[in-house]
Amino acid sequence: MNTEKELYNDYSIKKSAIAQGKQELSFEVSEHFFSNLFDETEFSGAFKLDVKIDRNNHVHTFQFQFNGKYAGNCNRCLAPLKLDAVFNEEIIIKETDYPEGESTDEIIFTETAEENINIAPLIYEFCRVHFPMRFVHAKEEDCDAQVMEKLNSAEINHDESYNGNTDPRWAELSKLKS
Ligand SMILES: [Zn+2]
Repeated sequence: MNTEKELYNDYSIKKSAIAQGKQELSFEVSEHFFSNLFDETEFSGAFKLDVKIDRNNHVHTFQFQFNGKYAGNCNRCLAPLKLDAVFNEEIIIKETDYPEGESTDEIIFTETAEENINIAPLIYEFCRVHFPMRFVHAKEEDCDAQVMEKLNSAEINHDESYNGNTDPRWAELSKLKS
């Protein structure tokens, strides 16, 4: 069983090991990654992650390719659900002796003296951003039948109590209808 620190260090890349030019690294992102390292409760997932690094002296261009599944609960029926997810991200990591600017979505500054680049926070951020706003079974038929039945009957009860409103205007209207 990995400790959190060991798990975090799995995503650490030694700068001295990054050669000039292009190279590719592979990582596994498990469900533990999200819950243990980032206390994420809304979603998790399991991904194969390929990272292409193009180094030009102090400028490293990182391309992230995620391929796997998100895990969470269906927004419609609340049942556990896994959905395929494939997405890419790119970011530039620039070494500097004097942190000269604020990091943005496109560029991150790291101190030259820093030995490692840890991509765990980036992985988390990219997965958080790409998690679908609406996380549901593809078809309503695939949702948990019992829960859907309860939800539907709750809606019907709601409608009935609305129609049974004692407001006299509704009584007049229903008389007109009949
Ligand atoms: Zn569902």
